[in-house]
Amino acid sequence: TKLNTYQPLTEQSAISMAVNVGIFEDGSLLTCEEIGDGNLNLVFHVVERDSGKGIIIKQALPYAKVVGESWPLTIERARIEAGALNLQRSFVGDLVPEVYHSDPSLAVTVMEDLSSLTIARAGLINGNKYPRLSDDIGTFLANTLYFTSDYALHPFRKKEYVKEFSNPELCKITEDLVFTDPFFNSETNEFEEELSGDVQQLWDDFTVKLEVAKLKKSFLTEGEALLHGDLHTGSIFVDDQHTKVIDPEFAFYGPIGFDIGQFIANLIFQVIASPGEKEPILHHIENTWNVFSATFSKHWKESGDAYTKVNGYLEYVLEKSFQDSIGFAGCECIRRTIGLAHVDDLESIEDKEQRLKAKRACLNLGKKLIVNRKHILSIEELLTLVRSYS
Ligand code: ADP
Ligand code: MG
Ligand code: MG
Ligand code: MG
Repeated sequence: TKLNTYQPLTEQSAISMAVNVGIFEDGSLLTCEEIGDGNLNLVFHVVERDSGKGIIIKQALPYAKVVGESWPLTIERARIEAGALNLQRSFVGDLVPEVYHSDPSLAVTVMEDLSSLTIARAGLINGNKYPRLSDDIGTFLANTLYFTSDYALHPFRKKEYVKEFSNPELCKITEDLVFTDPFFNSETNEFEEELSGDVQQLWDDFTVKLEVAKLKKSFLTEGEALLHGDLHTGSIFVDDQHTKVIDPEFAFYGPIGFDIGQFIANLIFQVIASPGEKEPILHHIENTWNVFSATFSKHWKESGDAYTKVNGYLEYVLEKSFQDSIGFAGCECIRRTIGLAHVDDLESIEDKEQRLKAKRACLNLGKKLIVNRKHILSIEELLTLVRSYS
């Protein structure tokens, strides 16, 4: 049986698809398990019994399930995800999974099985430090952001990509859940009653709101580079030797600082929440920025565009990206604490007082990052500030 119109796969039809696209031979003994988190997408793990060889089939569902409700969400995001993985792979190689097959009408991406690795958020919570993490993510950021931007591309090509990766419905989720809802009394918010006073203070803070409005404006209007769009530690598989970035269904053209800031914020949750040693995580924050800026600068200097040779322009772009990263990190700190989608780094703190203390630190640090982003002049200054909240 070969599907040609969209329908959600089952474990059985996922097996048929794995055979039909030529990954396994007809007659081989295959097992299949659905392993996704189940809110937006199905993720099937198909394994050949004898060889142990596995593949992943990810399929977008035509709706999103959140807090018991469901709303329609375009399956176009599967085309965006497969397209972004392929484009990113041309710039970062093995830092993203290989796509074996994709089919936009069925909203599926058949890709490399990474089950031998661990999701970074889970591994970090368990106390692992992953020595390669910041080198690899710094490189991922520099290569994907530089090579998809106007600093590197012919303007016609770049505008083709802007069209190809126009992603209005997924962007709207970020616009609402990251930049708007947490800063107003919205139904999607979710927080402990004990935080009500802190949250009310945030909602009454017009300095914070004005600065978030400016950051949201950047997100809405600055099509600088192809972003991953959801670069938190749950979108990264790791072990001591490997780093693989998955799940770019939110990819679109936006400001370079957004991906950097989201990743840094998700490391900040570890610095604040983890009972273990904090310095290795702080080092990852510092090294992510340093590897990003050094690698981005290297690419820049190898480019041939007239303006890229103008003194001070590279420094301007890096400084703007640094300030934006800090501001976007601040938004992420706040929305993961009181918004709709929380993080296990904070939620898994069992002791309630400890958990509330960590969440208050995230809220206060988040505000500080948003409001003071132009006055934090170096990555060392950022680390000093983060340390003072941990
Ligand atoms: P969603 O967009 O629904 O968050 P993800 O792409 O993040 O989907 O995948 C959800 C989960 O499925 C991951 O946390 C991981 O456990 C599993 N998964 C996704 N891609 C792979 C892969 N290539 N190899 C192994 N497991 C994967
Ligand atoms: Mg099952
Ligand atoms: Mg995901
Ligand atoms: Mg996703």
